[in-house]
Amino acid sequence: MAEIFLIEDEDKVGKITLAFLEEAGFGVRWFKNGEEGWDALQQQEPDLLILDLRLPGKLQGTEICRELRRQGSALPVIMLTAYGEEQERVQGLELGADDYLVKPFSLRELVARIKALLRRSGSMPRKQKIVFSEKGKTLTIDPEQQEVFMDDRRVELTSTEFRVLIFLARNPDHPFSREELLHHIHGPAYEGFDRVIDAHIKNIRKKLNLESGEFIQTRYGQGYKFRGRPAE
Ligand code: CA
Repeated sequence: MAEIFLIEDEDKVGKITLAFLEEAGFGVRWFKNGEEGWDALQQQEPDLLILDLRLPGKLQGTEICRELRRQGSALPVIMLTAYGEEQERVQGLELGADDYLVKPFSLRELVARIKALLRRSGSMPRKQKIVFSEKGKTLTIDPEQQEVFMDDRRVELTSTEFRVLIFLARNPDHPFSREELLHHIHGPAYEGFDRVIDAHIKNIRKKLNLESGEFIQTRYGQGYKFRGRPAE
């Protein structure tokens, strides 16, 4: 059973969301302010977080999202925003939230979004090291320390390169278009030249000293795909 944290200060919204999600078979813990929610997140990482952007107290939803990503967490996050909070919504997505719903939202839609995100995030433990091998080479990605190793050699990547690599590695065998990768890195509001992704991939390959097709494959007309065998 997937465990979900809900951080929402509005009593009515919190109660019906909690009841509906439990009915749908999820385990839910509900926190009414950012501080309590944050403390709980430091103790235990759930499978998904539903995060209201406007919270009482000092810790806003956007801050929580920013801190999670800064720690290297890939916890799937759905933001809840009020109608008209477009600026915050854009900010939240740029800070690494995966999806959003505008209040009042449909609970059935929320469940559909949750299921889609859980499918995408897979069952890979998010804070544990990701280790893949391919043709005798071992690639290790440490989300917590934000470090990458090729065999025993530590590889210095920029934070953007790191995010591209870990995103691909967390979703192996799934091709992503340049546009999808850009949106993941910079948020859906980003309007840039999607060939910039090619430059990031080129740098990652060079720094990791990869031969063509090792770990990161170019799919013509599709984008990029990660390939490797999870190491024991
Ligand atoms: Ca609120």
